[in-house]
Amino acid sequence: MYRTHTCGELCATHIGQTVTLSGWVQRVRNLGGMIFIDLRDRYGVTQLVANENTSNDLTEVVETLGREYVIKVEGEVLERTNKNKKIPTGEVEIDIKCLTILNTSEVPPFTIEDETDGGEELRMKYRYLDIRRKPVKNALMHRHKVGQAVRRYLDAQDFIEIETPSLIKSTPEGARDFVVPSRMNPGEFYALPQSPQTFKQLLMVAGMDKYFQIVKCFRDEDLRADRQPEFTQIDCEMAFVEQDDVISTFEGMVASVFKDILNVDFAAPFQRMSYNDAMSLYGSDKPDLRFGMEIRDLTDLAKGKGFVVFDKTEFIGGISVPSCANYSRKQLDGLTKFVQRPQIGAKGLVYVKLGENGDIKSSVDKFFTPDDLKQWASHMGAEDGDLLLIMAGDRIQTLEALGQLRLEMGERLGLRPADSFAPLWVVDFPLLEWDEETNRFYAKHHPFTSPVQSDIHLFESDPAAIRANAYDLVINGAEIGGGSIRIFDRELQYKMFKVLGFTEAQAEDQFGFLLNAFKYGAPPHGGIAFGFDRLCSVMDGVESIRDYIAFPKNNAGRDVMINSPSSISVEQLAELKIKLVE
Ligand code: ASP
Repeated sequence: MYRTHTCGELCATHIGQTVTLSGWVQRVRNLGGMIFIDLRDRYGVTQLVANENTSNDLTEVVETLGREYVIKVEGEVLERTNKNKKIPTGEVEIDIKCLTILNTSEVPPFTIEDETDGGEELRMKYRYLDIRRKPVKNALMHRHKVGQAVRRYLDAQDFIEIETPSLIKSTPEGARDFVVPSRMNPGEFYALPQSPQTFKQLLMVAGMDKYFQIVKCFRDEDLRADRQPEFTQIDCEMAFVEQDDVISTFEGMVASVFKDILNVDFAAPFQRMSYNDAMSLYGSDKPDLRFGMEIRDLTDLAKGKGFVVFDKTEFIGGISVPSCANYSRKQLDGLTKFVQRPQIGAKGLVYVKLGENGDIKSSVDKFFTPDDLKQWASHMGAEDGDLLLIMAGDRIQTLEALGQLRLEMGERLGLRPADSFAPLWVVDFPLLEWDEETNRFYAKHHPFTSPVQSDIHLFESDPAAIRANAYDLVINGAEIGGGSIRIFDRELQYKMFKVLGFTEAQAEDQFGFLLNAFKYGAPPHGGIAFGFDRLCSVMDGVESIRDYIAFPKNNAGRDVMINSPSSISVEQLAELKIKLVE
């Protein structure tokens, strides 16, 4: 038998018992007469001790132990003289009576400690060692618990878990598809699903009523730190629902998961905000509502006063940063550089310092009187001691840049604590988005999203003004989930495809299976999908989703551990009837 207990469970009540433990050698401390070993497994760490009473043979074996050796020990549980209050097993230690080396280990390429000396790439290459570290292990355990809590809630609400295929058909859903060649059908390809969208809709036509699936999705996009080419969704769909039904069901799910796992109570209902308000007040469609610092429009007040930069611009807006009027020249230059970074792309930054004693200093003193500046301050609800940060330019770009600056200032002022959560539904998204480059409309959510009933007449006259029955759940500035009420009427679906530039034949070719299903009594339906990896990371107050994925890919889409993607053999290519071009 390898073990009677785990390395995380022995405590004072076990004193005097003889136990067997197995695990990895975390650390060996040889203090001459005494040798201490920290033995680790998934459950914790237990201290083993060899002392002057230990036989010479045994001590010799103990002295050969290296980091990450796998051992089995038998011994008596003793009360420790120096208790360690920080770990659950800190009251006891095991007096080694028998020790077997089950496996040796090379010196690991980085330290297996909470704070490691291993860089990201190295840790990914040896991910199986990285996962032995507590923060990564805990992240995976957290993910497991979140998944279980989700399943418990949805099961209790009568949802059933149904798997949908991974080898499907390439469809334009927004991102690029990953494709898989078909050996049995040379020249033809499957696509990996960007989401099970059309399948879950077909399940509603099939009468399954409430579906969910914790499912892998694949999108061939350029990667950012918080994106992965394969990621997991909690994908859900319901029949006979309106927007409010979906929102309240999944608000319930999120509240129950936060309660179960973090013991955090969310007040119901969650706040809701229109997409337009989110953009004008926070410069983002996923505002972080842990703090205020809303954007104010200064266009009318600041335009036409002889400052050329402002006079020829579409939009002027600013934020008022509390108690930062004492910012130095250097700090302000730093902020200007921050907004000029390519990711933000602003031209410059105007400041107004509202001194404690009422005196005002600004980078635009020459163009505006103190009274003008006071007017801005009062319009922005600013107080003495505040710092106004102002930008001008194209409306949406400027709002987005102000939104980024707002987040940065919130961060600097400590207004975004990891253990506070601000959930928000963003609603009333536009149905369509015009793309200047390709000169056509794209679906803001996806082509199956239904327009708001009262806006349907706008399809001919003003498609850009049509609102969608779509909603996003945002927590702390991260989009946790998004969904919509779907089109379930063939004619309306055709109309939607038409505005997206599909001919009837193209629509038939790509989505004939769905349009056909709509001939046979499709019920009204709608749903949502949550980013499972992101939900887990946001709950932990962590920005990157990587540690919540056992084997993630790097920014170049590579798995550096198994070295994938990789080339395939000439024989495999021939079998697939694929010729590579140079
Ligand atoms: N399939 C959608 C997505 O992946 C979510 C939904 O509309 O339910 O974004």
